[in-house]
Amino acid sequence: MTDMCCCVPEAGSALCEQPAPELMRRSISPGTCPCCGERGKPVQGQTVKSLLAISLRTVRDVQYHFCRRRDCPVVYFSDDGQQQFVTSDIRELVYQKEPDTDQVQVCYCFGYRAGALRAASAAERDSIIADINAGIQASQCACDLRNPQGSCCLGNVRAFGRQRTAALAVNSEA
Ligand SMILES: [Zn+2]
Repeated sequence: MTDMCCCVPEAGSALCEQPAPELMRRSISPGTCPCCGERGKPVQGQTVKSLLAISLRTVRDVQYHFCRRRDCPVVYFSDDGQQQFVTSDIRELVYQKEPDTDQVQVCYCFGYRAGALRAASAAERDSIIADINAGIQASQCACDLRNPQGSCCLGNVRAFGRQRTAALAVNSEA
């Protein structure tokens, strides 16, 4: 983990809730991750509640944000930066935090994992995207309750495919 972080990866949210002077100094503005300083993406309370593996008694009625930064252990933080939930507090592996892990889901509603997407041909990835689209059309998705980012995975799946195509092109030139 990065030395930019204010909390060790093993630290639970209880530890992180302590208003350490270091942490206070680093929470620059509301909505900014107190750990890495990156702007978070606002998420609904129900997303945080669905994804937490720990007691929901810790959840407050405040705005939470999702930190997308890969090398930051914080997944959710409160608007004021005083409360953080790290990867070990979350029920699922978080795609943005470990995109190279085969078992991590890219699409949390229909269960497409990074390993399978990586192994798929371009045509197979197209049919996966078609399957996800069909699921969305049929209102079978529940991104706000299943995807840690609290929104649709489709952009991530498309970007994953583009990166994969680019990586293969580089390899075949070499
Ligand atoms: Zn962060």
